[in-house]
Amino acid sequence: MNTKDIPSGAELLQSHIFNKGTAFTPEERQKFKIDALLPPCVNTIEEQAERFMSLFHEKPTNIEKYAFITSLLELNLTLYTRVLVDNLEEMMPIVYTPTVGDACMQYSHIYRKPQGIFLNANQKGRFVELLAQWETKDVRVIVVTDGERILGLGDLGAQGMGIPVGKLSLYAACAGINLQNCLPITIDVGTNNTEFLNDPRYIGLKQPRIRGEAYDALLEEFVTAVETVFPDVLLQFEDFANINAFPLLNRYRDRLCSFNDDIQGTACVSLAGLQAAMRMKNESITDQTILFLGAGSAGTGIGELIVSAMAAEGLPKEEGYTRCWFVDSKGLIVKSRDNLADHKLPFASEHEYLPDFKSALHSLKPTMIVGVSGQPGVFDQEVLAAMAEYNERPVIFALSNPTSKAECTAHDAYTWTEGRAIFASGSPFDPVTIGDRTFLPGQGNNAYVFPGIGLGVIAVKASRVPEEMFLVAAKALAEQTSNEDFAVGRLYPSWQQIREISLNIAVAVAELAYEKDLARVPRPDDLKAFVQSQMFTPEYEDYA
Ligand code: NAD
Repeated sequence: MNTKDIPSGAELLQSHIFNKGTAFTPEERQKFKIDALLPPCVNTIEEQAERFMSLFHEKPTNIEKYAFITSLLELNLTLYTRVLVDNLEEMMPIVYTPTVGDACMQYSHIYRKPQGIFLNANQKGRFVELLAQWETKDVRVIVVTDGERILGLGDLGAQGMGIPVGKLSLYAACAGINLQNCLPITIDVGTNNTEFLNDPRYIGLKQPRIRGEAYDALLEEFVTAVETVFPDVLLQFEDFANINAFPLLNRYRDRLCSFNDDIQGTACVSLAGLQAAMRMKNESITDQTILFLGAGSAGTGIGELIVSAMAAEGLPKEEGYTRCWFVDSKGLIVKSRDNLADHKLPFASEHEYLPDFKSALHSLKPTMIVGVSGQPGVFDQEVLAAMAEYNERPVIFALSNPTSKAECTAHDAYTWTEGRAIFASGSPFDPVTIGDRTFLPGQGNNAYVFPGIGLGVIAVKASRVPEEMFLVAAKALAEQTSNEDFAVGRLYPSWQQIREISLNIAVAVAELAYEKDLARVPRPDDLKAFVQSQMFTPEYEDYA
């Protein structure tokens, strides 16, 4: 670090990038003229973190905990990251789902300070200038939303800002990406949320969402501005509604280093779960018949990646599509249906139309069912018992979030299959005991994969994020599930190892970047050591 960049006096204590609070040494305090602005005690970062956590535990509600940890983000990035890394399991549900959802709902009312860049439709024509206003120039990861489909909460407009902020915190905590190099962005194109439009305190543009060509032109200006101001950046699209998510992904994935976590990250972590399930029951992915409930961004994204994974194992893609079946709110997706959205078309089958999930289940007798519909309880006793009848080891993924939306509970999945189910969920479930066996259900959380993928991409400055990166990332994750995990029914490795997991995923991604000639730094002799050296360890630097 160049100490010339460090401000002096009160400004230093206001800079969340450089601030160390009571951890400034006596020499630093004199040098930067802050010795009168701090009490005489000098703390270590461990002591500061301990003091923070004891105050954190006194906060009575999760939303107050969210506000408290966010105040630390605004005050001291290094300490914030340290607290996240050291208390990840406790912090994840606060800085991300479910608490971040509550925070987004209330964002205008609890708003104090922007933690990222807001761009709005009225600023069209100025995006290059506006992006350049960000506090640092070395931005390596951007997470951007337009706030239209925030978690399962719908259109939250400008209040969606909590999501890019939270997602980037996970990059930092899970894969050691320095928050100094991260930029959360919300593009405010209006909102169709009438409650917000009528709320005098709503912080965003009070107008209906712009659509069509005007929307596309705004996003085009945004992407061009990103390419101009931050040419080496990884751009992650997050929580866009399907009508925009798929077209944006298709338009930009081959043009710049970008991906969509709702589609591709979800697909990657789900494929990893499927591959681990194949290891568990010693079968090949190409022999599976998979029935999805829900054909939105999550479902068809998973389907597409599974088809690619089957192709990598020798099954032609046309055949792969016939192994993945989808039921949406209108019934089985078949060729005879009218007006199917583009992302559903590849999965439309030559089969008689069936009106609902159960009729499709009994007709197709799948080896695996995947719930991505947000419809709780659809995988009921009849469905689960049928899966147990059709399969020795039925694979059941109930991925809808939050827990209350899951298509079945872990308890039901194990109970109605006599403990034979191979189960994973989108939200966490408590351990389940059936007879003398206790199962620890695995959670297919995207945070297993996107931080590691991001780390690999930025470590070697990959110019694109091709689909194969999600295939190698899924494989790298699936390989890290141990026999001990399998013994308790868990398809994913333990969270405690997340930084090691992310590192291994990053190395696989970086390796692929070299194979495909996408890397823009010379290949190091020891790729793992090189990637590891890029991981930020939250310790203070010496400024003296
Ligand atoms: P989406 O709105 O794009 O898609 C939902 C799909 O479900 C649509 O195809 C809709 O037609 C279908 N559907 C709704 N009601 C139905 C019904 N009664 N019967 C049949 N189909 C019905 O949403 P999405 O982004 O695809 O997310 C779907 C779910 O997946 C959400 O609950 C989300 O929380 C979850 N998800 C989980 C993970 C994860 O676990 N890692 C990641 C992303 C999304």
